[in-house]
Amino acid sequence: MTEKIARVVVDVPASNIDRFFDYLIPDHLLGALEVGMRVIVPFGNRTIMGYVLHTVNETTLDESRLKAIKATLDVQPVLTKELIDLGQWLAESTMSFFISSFQAMLPQALKATYDKSLHRLEEPKNQQLADLFDGRDYIAFDELSEHIPLRVINEEIKEKTVEWDYHVTTNESYKFVQMVEVVGTEAEFDAYLAELTKQSKKQFELVQYFLDHPATQPLKQVLSENQTTRNTLNKLKDHQLIRLVKQQVNRDPYQGQTEKTIPLTLAPQQQAALDAIVSKMDQNLPDTFLLHGVTGSGKTEVYLQAIDHAIKQGKEAIVLVPEISLTPMMVERFKRRFGDAVAVLHSALSKGERFDEWRKIQKKQVSVAVGARSAIFAPFENLGMIIIDEEHESTYKQEDHPRYHVRDVAKKRAIYHACPVVLGTATPTLETYARAKKGVYHLIEMPERINQSVMPKVTIQDMREELHQGNRTMFSRQLKEAIQQRIDKQEQVVLFLNRRGYSTFVMCRDCGHTVECPDCDISLTYHQRDHRLKCHYCNYSEPMPKVCPNCESESIRFFGTGTEKVEEALNETFPEARIIRMDVDTTRKKGAHERLLKQFGKKQADILLGTQMIAKGLDFPDVTLVGVLAADGLLNLPDFRAAEKTFQLLTQVSGRAGRHELTGEVIIQTYTPEHYSVLFAKEYDYHGFFKQEMTLRKAYQYPPYYFLTLITVTHENRLKAEEVTRVIQKLLNKHLTEQAIILGPTPSPIERIKGRYRFQCMVKYKDEPDLMTVLRKILKHYEAESNKNQLMIHIDLNPQQLM
Ligand code: ADP
Ligand code: ZN
Ligand code: ZN
Repeated sequence: MTEKIARVVVDVPASNIDRFFDYLIPDHLLGALEVGMRVIVPFGNRTIMGYVLHTVNETTLDESRLKAIKATLDVQPVLTKELIDLGQWLAESTMSFFISSFQAMLPQALKATYDKSLHRLEEPKNQQLADLFDGRDYIAFDELSEHIPLRVINEEIKEKTVEWDYHVTTNESYKFVQMVEVVGTEAEFDAYLAELTKQSKKQFELVQYFLDHPATQPLKQVLSENQTTRNTLNKLKDHQLIRLVKQQVNRDPYQGQTEKTIPLTLAPQQQAALDAIVSKMDQNLPDTFLLHGVTGSGKTEVYLQAIDHAIKQGKEAIVLVPEISLTPMMVERFKRRFGDAVAVLHSALSKGERFDEWRKIQKKQVSVAVGARSAIFAPFENLGMIIIDEEHESTYKQEDHPRYHVRDVAKKRAIYHACPVVLGTATPTLETYARAKKGVYHLIEMPERINQSVMPKVTIQDMREELHQGNRTMFSRQLKEAIQQRIDKQEQVVLFLNRRGYSTFVMCRDCGHTVECPDCDISLTYHQRDHRLKCHYCNYSEPMPKVCPNCESESIRFFGTGTEKVEEALNETFPEARIIRMDVDTTRKKGAHERLLKQFGKKQADILLGTQMIAKGLDFPDVTLVGVLAADGLLNLPDFRAAEKTFQLLTQVSGRAGRHELTGEVIIQTYTPEHYSVLFAKEYDYHGFFKQEMTLRKAYQYPPYYFLTLITVTHENRLKAEEVTRVIQKLLNKHLTEQAIILGPTPSPIERIKGRYRFQCMVKYKDEPDLMTVLRKILKHYEAESNKNQLMIHIDLNPQQLM
């Protein structure tokens, strides 16, 4: 590289800094610095990290005033040329900062952290400060803040006796193991033996061992095989017969996999799907497929064989799986087919493990990346295909800056690599299915389960009816009976409780008062473990009150059904049953998720009780009953996708039963048995549901008929939040076409979070070429106030959550 100026995006997420800065490439970096590397640059009076995006020979600024790059943090670029363009596109299309977009694309370990310290230029005037320096040139900020008031420091800075200095450190950590290398010759070993006395039995053994095992091997292994200690070994080291060296190794979180699987003979519907995908791959066409296959139709096997095809052509593949289905079982299916060619990017891994997995991709040691959302940015350079499994999952949309949807990023990357994208699911989003029907996507239907196994029979239990019959428990009589049968037959049961239904709130039976968070507009949730009420949005918690804070009545109780409560009720009703409960509380520890599922798989429990996290991907042969305790939880959310989400969830959950020889049964308990999402889910009728839901979406002007953009304004002052939202609404009204529907200002469904009031304005539109421009102007207008964090404006294009 001969250019002498680098364009750098710096690590400061603020709107007035959201652009490129030019830096001189100093002589010692000429030739070493490459586009896509992280660098350390001076910025204002600080030193910060940045990414080199371009190199040029001319700057529009006065070249003599350019500052120089201080150092590079990488020897190999962390961003490929494709990712540099992708990051810029990402920032623009989601209205995010460049720096946020690039950081979203890289593993956490590559983020920079900054240490601040005070640098002594001459002897400080303040004696206390001078004493603290005690001959040193630097004092770390932490040490300083304990002893010296900030005022004193500011005065000294004015006197130019000291200055702040910033050091950039990064977190990428490599794992090393100690290796023992044999360096002595045989003659030298012999000479050493001759010196030894009879007592040195251990040394004799060790010499013999190294003569037999001259290859370099891990220290741990040497010690354990010789049952000896480091001290004993050190004698050989002192005689320069062996040497200890550090060797970098990859952490491998998925060690010890069993034998490989071979491709299965495909069923006709699978073969047709594979042929269609492979043909686009061979033609290098960036087309998108919707693989609509019922649960158990063999979608995963199609993915595996399509990936195999890509690998055989020397290409790579990305497979995205929702976080909660990224179970060890799922990972194993890929690992067992492709062995070491697979990297797994999963947030349950430690930061270091994730970094090592990412580096396997960067170093081209693997051809397949399996992972959750952010794996879409895997730095492959020769992609053959991208698969998004369970494409309907709402977690594929990032809710924080940059607010991207993985589907859009996949399509963008597919164009660059000229490779197909496959969206797989049993319950496509309405947007996706509508596109497939219009021919924008290629539709592949797989309506049958493998081996003609039938979908389990679904029955609906009307819980209102149960109540009328005097059944006040949380299990309908039919479900109770069905569970008992399974316990008797030693078959297994999965009981599913909706996450929303699991929130238990506290209400006074006398006055109806509910206990809410003082800072957020939401009821507190009762946690049995520590007998406290907690807010799910901020960290507020308080003890469970003994009397109603409003009327002092003692009839204050918690309502709703939490997993803990269900577990208790199960224990009472089925004292002999062994139960595994899976929820956020029992799976917090690393590896807990895996351990609980393993126990259930080994039939160490009869009932698996859990939230969302058990709805997907589980495949246990002895599960013959699936119960849904409160199907309504999602239906009551203030969200136009409530019915869609309910349908998806019920379908997914039902798919967990009877996947093998034993036939399965599903029981859904609900207070709204007549709701179409419940009825269509019972019949596994996606097309029926799609038709009905589309009618409603059209009538109420929602996606896929309209695009949405949600603007949320938050401020500590309620009036201010509302007023700004009103101004925005008016501006949009003025600048958008007459077809655009602009709603608001209205308070957000959760009106206050962490003490900030929230108002929103919703835009529904079909085609508004100026929308982004207008929104950018609005953001610019409020820039000063936003930078001080008083006012926050969130813009969410195609929002998945309307809360
Ligand atoms: P999906 O991903 O659509 O839910 P899977 O790929 O998990 O379906 O397949 C369901 C079950 O059928 C799995 O146990 C899988 O091993 C098995 N299976 C898939 N394809 C075949 C095939 N062609 N022949 C035999 N068994 C198959
Ligand atoms: Zn709160
Ligand atoms: Zn009360």
